[in-house]
Amino acid sequence: MGETFGVVGAGIVGLTVARELARRRPDGTVVVWEKEPRVGAHQTSHSSGVVHAGIYYRPGSLKAELCTRGRRLLEEYCAEHGLPFEACGKLVVAVDPDEIGRLDALERTARQNGVPGLRRVGPGEVRELEPHAAGLAALHSPATAITDYAAVAETMASELRDGGADVRTSAAVTTIRRVPGGALVVSRGEAHRVDRLVVCAGLQADRVSRWVDGEAEPRIVPFRGEYLTVRPEKRSLVRGMVYPVPDPRYPFLGVHFTRRASGELEVGPNAVLALRREGYGRYDVTAADVRELVASPGFWRMARRHWRTGVKEVSGSFSTRAFMRTAQRYVPEIGAADVVRGGAGVRAQAVERDGGLLDDFRITESDGVTCIRNAPSPAATSSLAIAEHVADRVLAS
Ligand SMILES: Cc1cc2nc3c(=O)[nH]c(=O)nc-3n(C[C@H](O)[C@H](O)[C@H](O)COP(=O)(O)OP(=O)(O)OC[C@H]3O[C@@H](n4cnc5c(N)ncnc54)[C@H](O)[C@@H]3O)c2cc1C
Repeated sequence: MGETFGVVGAGIVGLTVARELARRRPDGTVVVWEKEPRVGAHQTSHSSGVVHAGIYYRPGSLKAELCTRGRRLLEEYCAEHGLPFEACGKLVVAVDPDEIGRLDALERTARQNGVPGLRRVGPGEVRELEPHAAGLAALHSPATAITDYAAVAETMASELRDGGADVRTSAAVTTIRRVPGGALVVSRGEAHRVDRLVVCAGLQADRVSRWVDGEAEPRIVPFRGEYLTVRPEKRSLVRGMVYPVPDPRYPFLGVHFTRRASGELEVGPNAVLALRREGYGRYDVTAADVRELVASPGFWRMARRHWRTGVKEVSGSFSTRAFMRTAQRYVPEIGAADVVRGGAGVRAQAVERDGGLLDDFRITESDGVTCIRNAPSPAATSSLAIAEHVADRVLAS
């Protein structure tokens, strides 16, 4: 009899981890528990759908390493399974002379990360690549692509089930107990013993990981990201993706224009503190989520540091005009009258006790249980490489 592996969470990270463990241990048993009725129900199906090429991430970080490899693996996976993957390319545009220094720094980072095909372009070439974009200078990344992560997750779940893995939906894990040589996973009132367990619980990562090792930090702070959908008549004004130069104080990339695999053009996402971890509406509130947020010292330290940006983001959330004023700096011909409210996603952003937003992926281990405590963007892009990295660690422990 082979070993039994358990995975909590069937987002794209949990599914890729389960797939990698099943591939490496064909004689083992793999069980995935997902609390929602379908796989990929949260961050995985509420993202921008961008397959990042590694422009932004600190060289040497897990993000830098796993994004580059993950992009390549995802392209192969999509080709193999007939899933959408379109390298429509991205421009990161500086519209203000003050942004040139930050664009230079970003270029250095991207080059160190070996972003394929990266080029610095001037205003003329910005117009050639994106005829309706404004910009003094830009980085062009032709390898940045789009996909449909929800479809990737569904395909992966089918592949797992066909290979004999047990992917359980509507199966919330309600606690985890440590036992010698493994863990007991409790779901639907039943305890299931596994030899190794990987927690990939996204927006619930801190709560589920705490059952494993008692560690409360880092906490997840949820940031809702809202999108506006460009009316069909203006869709053709953007060919690929147009991004701002990001503010290095934040792990978010700023409101951008993104083409979807469905053909739609979206503007977003902003980053507004969410009062419900898995709440997609502007007025969604869960008392327990708010209580936990305000009880955490890291939250107040973070709030003190970033309240000005917070106020600006909230005003953009309530006013399409304010939202589009920022976006129009990049594509002036798309204004408030050309968009309708679109969907929203909630990012699971881990925050340290000192209030710092944790930038890199964080993975911890404790006696045969591995917890993914921070897997924000580009974790969807990187998922197949995260799975390799996690499987190496799980099987070596
Ligand atoms: C607005 C937005 C835009 C983004 N854009 C991009 C992008 O363009 N490119 C990119 O690479 N990344 C992007 N990301 C990030 C990306 O979506 C996430 O990093 C990635 O989906 C994380 O996957 P995950 O499996 O860890 O989390 P999730 O997809 O959230 O999955 C976690 C799963 O765990 C389940 N779960 C939680 N607790 C339990 C429990 N107790 N029992 C059972 N199941 C449980 C949840 O129901 C959920 O299905 C974006 C994210 C957001 C929110």
